[in-house]
Amino acid sequence: MSSANQVLVLNCGSSSFKFALLNSETGTETLSGLAERLGSDDASITFKRNGNKNSLSLNDKNRHLDAIKTLVSYLETEGLSNDIAAVGHRVVHGGEKFTESVVIDSSTIKSIEDVSSLAPLHNPANLIGIEAAMVAFPGIPQVAVFDTAFHQSMPAKAYLYAIDKQLYKEKGIRRYGFHGTSHFYVSRQAAESLAKQISETSVITVHLGNGCSVCAIENGQSVDTSMGLTPMEGLVMGTRSGDLDPGITIYLMRKYGYDADKLDQLLNKQSGLLGLSGLSNDCRTLEQALESEDEQTQQSAQLALEVFSYRVAKYIASYTCALTHLDAVVFTGGIGENSDYLRSRIIAHLGVLGLSVDEARNTAARFGHSGPIHGNDSRAAIWVIPTNEELVIAQDAARLTFNHSQDNQQQGA
Ligand code: AMP
Repeated sequence: MSSANQVLVLNCGSSSFKFALLNSETGTETLSGLAERLGSDDASITFKRNGNKNSLSLNDKNRHLDAIKTLVSYLETEGLSNDIAAVGHRVVHGGEKFTESVVIDSSTIKSIEDVSSLAPLHNPANLIGIEAAMVAFPGIPQVAVFDTAFHQSMPAKAYLYAIDKQLYKEKGIRRYGFHGTSHFYVSRQAAESLAKQISETSVITVHLGNGCSVCAIENGQSVDTSMGLTPMEGLVMGTRSGDLDPGITIYLMRKYGYDADKLDQLLNKQSGLLGLSGLSNDCRTLEQALESEDEQTQQSAQLALEVFSYRVAKYIASYTCALTHLDAVVFTGGIGENSDYLRSRIIAHLGVLGLSVDEARNTAARFGHSGPIHGNDSRAAIWVIPTNEELVIAQDAARLTFNHSQDNQQQGA
């Protein structure tokens, strides 16, 4: 295997970052890991290589920079540092400025800063990672890959909110959508599975993890998606509410004195599966609670999962409006790839559209196994396809830096 195709992919959050070193052509991962609890006394970094895990404590005065320096030392010790041809960064919000991935220079950094107010939790953390990596890997090209870029193809009827249009024109308030790399990846995989050109497919991709979103993809382009200005809109998520009557926020403010921070906490951190069940944000835990002998626990879990699956089904049904026809529904993300229970519950709501599940296939498609799960009589295919956001980031980084001939359809292009 050529070492010249190695890309280091960084996904930087405010107190953690994930990393992976992978071959941009084959997708083979040489190294992956996670630095976490950055900024606290027990900050640590974990490396996974050849099936082995190795954790180190971090001297954490400089948070991300110390963690990235430790990663650089590890890469050097393991003889991997010379293989890195590019660094690819996941950046959450690209606003309307970024419709595709870009090589990072000082003007890119300024533009990412400019849209940071739209993603105040994420973009500043992504920038810390970019700046730390530029210090740690001098001379190695760095590429930003945006979660929003793929959705920039949405038409105005999908991205505009029905509010005073000056709020869009002057303040940029519109639907941007997120999870773009995931929807992009699984839609391309689905086209291959369907033996069709991407330019001829109409699919609905359903990313269900801690964050959840649905995307309508016509001829390879995103034409609608459920997350909005922020990742809070749309589906019920682990701790986010998804759609709700905007009047609720006004009511809570006027009657109960909620302010922005309290609403943020409520709708981002205490809602979704956690808020509904009062038990957990984690789907696996809730599925286990379905078996509980305690009736209240069992009913709480059941209700939360029912609200979750009904909402997903409503979105799938409504997104048929965005498409000329429906070739396939594609499930991905931790829940979409693993929960045969929820997939079955979701599709059960879609009988009117002629969709059906083959339960034996549904049970088999779990734990990293890709496969069709539709019944023989289903009017469209239903697939489970594991996502691979790191590979999309590595491929975009390669194409924009050292491998211009790589024949990728660019994210967002
Ligand atoms: P992600 O954010 O994509 O890592 O997905 C995390 C979610 O996937 C959590 O709610 C997990 O409980 C859920 N998940 C992972 N494995 C399973 C499984 N075997 N069955 C049900 N849910 C799962």
